[in-house]
Amino acid sequence: MKIVLLGSPGVGKGTYASFIKEKYKIPHISTGDLFREAMKNETPLGKKAKEYYDAGKLVPDELTIQILSERIKRPDCKGGFMLDGFPRTLAQADALEKIAKIDVTINFFASDKVIMQRLGGRIICKNCGEIFNTVNRKPKKSGICDKCGGELYRRADEVPEIIKKRLDTYHQQTKPLEEYYKKKGILKNIRAETDMNASTFKVDILDRIDEALSSLR
Ligand code: AMP
Repeated sequence: MKIVLLGSPGVGKGTYASFIKEKYKIPHISTGDLFREAMKNETPLGKKAKEYYDAGKLVPDELTIQILSERIKRPDCKGGFMLDGFPRTLAQADALEKIAKIDVTINFFASDKVIMQRLGGRIICKNCGEIFNTVNRKPKKSGICDKCGGELYRRADEVPEIIKKRLDTYHQQTKPLEEYYKKKGILKNIRAETDMNASTFKVDILDRIDEALSSLR
């Protein structure tokens, strides 16, 4: 099963991806994570990506396609994978089509108000990557991950000016992909506004994801 997750920054793709990964046992590939890893390790590609990343701009297609195609060649992707944050431009979607046949694209959508709230409050575990939110998904102990006890941090590109830039970029460059995948007949839309604190949150969203994927099984 090869899945693309679409949706604006902050819609909760990372959280939904962790649910899908747990249930469907396919690797979760986030180009944002690949860039963060490359920047942390100061690889040549990481150094080139940093100036764009820090400004909240898209990294050029050539570098992004390179980092993604190297990742999906790895053996864990043989049985399928889920892409989060890729493609983000039409050129990336065309490049992807040449290297993999995507079965379904799930487009998560929510109002701007919900998005701003989620992005502004997001905190992430340094150790396991679990995502919390100071507004609607608080950790039990402030600054500490509920899952593994790791330290929680706020991403450098999640300050208001950069958030705004990332959202503008999304509307201009990534939103057209909805039409692109709709035309191919593989787009499934999922409203993603359920309060992440609600006890039924995971079940609700997984139900909708199961429905979207049911035609593939
Ligand atoms: P994310 O973690 O998906 O929000 O991505 C964080 C940042 O990584 C983005 O603001 C971009 O600078 C870069 N990035 C991630 N994925 C892509 C992509 N598909 N194309 C270009 N830049 C990307």
